Amino acid sequence: MAPEALLNAEERERIRAKSALFDPPAARLADGRRELVGMRREEIAAEMLAIGEKPFRAKQLWHWIYHQGVTDFAAMNTIAKPLQAKLSEQFVIGRPGVTTEQTSSDGTRKWLFNFRDQQQVETVYIPDHDRGALCISTQVGCTLSCTFCHTGTQKLVRNLSVAEIVGQFMAARDSYGEWPTPKGEEGRRLSNIVVMGMGEPLYNYENIAAALTIIMDHEGIALSRRRITLSTSGVVPMMDLCGQELGVNLAVSLHATNDALRNEIVPLNRKYPIAELLAACRRYPGASNARRITFEYVMLRGVNDSIAEAHELVRLLADIPAKVNLIPFNPWPGSPYKTSTPEAVRAFAEVLNDAGYSSPIRRPRGRDILAACGQLKTATERAKRA
Ligand code: SAH
Ligand code: SF4
Repeated sequence: MAPEALLNAEERERIRAKSALFDPPAARLADGRRELVGMRREEIAAEMLAIGEKPFRAKQLWHWIYHQGVTDFAAMNTIAKPLQAKLSEQFVIGRPGVTTEQTSSDGTRKWLFNFRDQQQVETVYIPDHDRGALCISTQVGCTLSCTFCHTGTQKLVRNLSVAEIVGQFMAARDSYGEWPTPKGEEGRRLSNIVVMGMGEPLYNYENIAAALTIIMDHEGIALSRRRITLSTSGVVPMMDLCGQELGVNLAVSLHATNDALRNEIVPLNRKYPIAELLAACRRYPGASNARRITFEYVMLRGVNDSIAEAHELVRLLADIPAKVNLIPFNPWPGSPYKTSTPEAVRAFAEVLNDAGYSSPIRRPRGRDILAACGQLKTATERAKRA
């Protein structure tokens, strides 16, 4: 192994050990029943063996859970009544609880979901004509404290479990009645997933990897890896693994073109500086001109939005199959930044376009329901206290 790979393996072990300190609670109810959502196929098969049933039951259950979307064993008409009863004594097929569900005038829908230990996360659906992306969360809070991010002000409580990650997608599907899973990938309302909600997914890698594996399974939700984009603030040692094992699209939260500024606004940069981050992007498996890496760039007025920085960005991305997503900063109460002026955003985008980069400016969506990541949760907590 190259020395670099060895170093990364060591780092990964350290990250895994730290992540384990924030493990979610066991997927078991007070009455002892276990959650089937989130179990791997082999785990379900082992459970069936353990209760004296044939392993092929796992295939049937998988179909009912992930293709049909049922939550009640009594609806599983390929399974005889006595076995339905036995299953319901031992297992549940759960969903996150819905604390609030709001739909914005532009169609954006936002949920505050709660879990069995009363922890909460946000999930957002962003429609786009006949399709739409669901933005899912991976942690309650975040250990990183990017200065422009509202989630960064909430300390990490814990990682989400596999069931809680998959459950966000399934509950959103419930909300749109999109069961059974539509044939093929065209015409789905929930056609894409962006792992861009609360938390840093690569600091909860095991659970997010297992969750996406379930979501991509052909006999269930069957969403292809090309329709999934994982966003990271730059956890370099985990990026290779993510590419090799999951092969999903990668989005990188860059936000600055020099280390001095990035150290300040994305503090993880002190550990994995820009040069290392971009090197990891260059070797990201599957990145090509047809599948570009998205660089996210939040536009902060007078901080990172100059023309000189746009040129520097072009220089940095020169040999990477890249597109740039310019995100107007979404202010939150007490945030230290202002949104760049529309002129500054346009001028910045023009430099990128002239250099041949597609650089869509993300329209602010759902402003009327507090779309900035992490805001709904805080607003709800404030309302509860008041
Ligand atoms: N932790 C991961 C994924 C969650 S954050 C990451 O940092 O990539 C998802 C995206 O939202 C990131 O690009 C982040 O920089 C951006 N973001 C966070 N707060 C924002 C705000 N107030 N306005 C605009 N974008 C924001
Ligand atoms: Fe965490 Fe991402 Fe927010 Fe940074 S931008 S604090 S990594 S959720």
